[in-house]
Amino acid sequence: MKTGRFRGGIHPPSWKESTRLRPIRSLPLPDKLYLLLLQHTGTPLVPLVVKGDRVKRGQKIADVEAYISAPLHAPVAGKVLAIEDWPHPCQGKFPAIVIENDHTEEEEKRDPLDTREIEALDRSFLREWIREGGLVGLGGAAFPTHVKVSPPEGKTIDTLILNGAECEPFLTADERVMIEDPENILLGGRILKQCCGAGRLVIALEDNKSESERSIRRLLDKDPGVAELITLPTRYPQGSEKHLILSLLKRWVPPGGLPFDVGVVVSNVQTSRAVGRMAREGLPLIDRVITVSGDAISQADNLSVPLGMRLIDILEGCGGLKTEPRKIIMGGPMTGIAQVQLDVPVVKGTSGFLFMSEITEKKEFPCIRCGRCVSTCPMNLVPSALARFSEFRAYDEARNHYALDCIECGVCAYGCPSGIPLTHHIKQAKAEILRKSRKGSQ
Ligand code: SF4
Ligand code: SF4
Repeated sequence: MKTGRFRGGIHPPSWKESTRLRPIRSLPLPDKLYLLLLQHTGTPLVPLVVKGDRVKRGQKIADVEAYISAPLHAPVAGKVLAIEDWPHPCQGKFPAIVIENDHTEEEEKRDPLDTREIEALDRSFLREWIREGGLVGLGGAAFPTHVKVSPPEGKTIDTLILNGAECEPFLTADERVMIEDPENILLGGRILKQCCGAGRLVIALEDNKSESERSIRRLLDKDPGVAELITLPTRYPQGSEKHLILSLLKRWVPPGGLPFDVGVVVSNVQTSRAVGRMAREGLPLIDRVITVSGDAISQADNLSVPLGMRLIDILEGCGGLKTEPRKIIMGGPMTGIAQVQLDVPVVKGTSGFLFMSEITEKKEFPCIRCGRCVSTCPMNLVPSALARFSEFRAYDEARNHYALDCIECGVCAYGCPSGIPLTHHIKQAKAEILRKSRKGSQ
């Protein structure tokens, strides 16, 4: 079944061909892992270990008493070498626990979950079980999953959507996970659905993922009624939560609102797979699947990597570079974050790394008022005006023109014929507005 579409958006080249047929491969585990104490949206973690401690694979090594947080676990067994500042992919430097892998693979596992009657399991127990597993959204935002599936008092959830849209160019990790491990995605989806009390489970993907669609459909044919599979037109940013909800259910999340407000919870397919794996195997979130791609890398690939593995070790596992990259990006090219060094480690929100040698440097010209940014903005904003307010530091004006509704999708900047870095300006305005409101509330 195909369903509707949202206003605006773009159809950039997909660049997915180099990796979509590459099965998920594991790299040899490195001798050292660097586990940053900021892995999720929310409060940074506090170490539960000290230098010299021995840890087992799956052991909790950091946590904090805060609602919006999720603990961190050791991806390998070994010795804590240090707790020291290390490059963070989004935050300059941040403290990290450095573990020396002793290659014994000694594990600390929890009991697998009894999955025979998920619908009878207690919701608060499941939410705590998810929190203790360190689960966060693996689509990139890394928002703690137990918070996502805990609707506030008075909000009723009727639909859980598993987001397999993966609309960013180059990235195919979610696509491979849907092809290779639909069982765990579905199991995780049923657990998340039980947590948030939804009656309906929908798996959504773009219509350019026919092999994923076949793989999931084969599974659903054996157990019809467990979930619905819905394909959506391929259009960026179809994977944005608000647009997914609009396309699938024709419900518009109000400005400043959340999916909760329209009775929906959205979870990435890799997150639900991690929930399903934890239920079956008892291991918390200690690894994830990423795409490594771009024209500068020798072998583009989909890789299962432990948290804390450095980009330089991943690069080596992909045969190194074939040419010098001009830009390295963590994530996709539309919303990803430029990286300046190869020491940066994988965090829970890492969906991929791109090594690009061919990038179009846009020269900036004055706005010609063509209106393209307005007609393509999927949030119905006026990006040209917001950028101008930002440049003139008119942050109150920017707020009055709904700058905080910008989802930072990059669509406006992508199509601007004058090469104006619109998203960059709007991000700056958003940061200032949020900083001022935090200051005002202190
Ligand atoms: S797309 Fe660029 S040139 Fe056209 S109106 Fe928007 S800011 Fe101006
Ligand atoms: S980055 Fe923001 S302003 Fe630009 S198109 Fe996306 S939502 Fe609209």
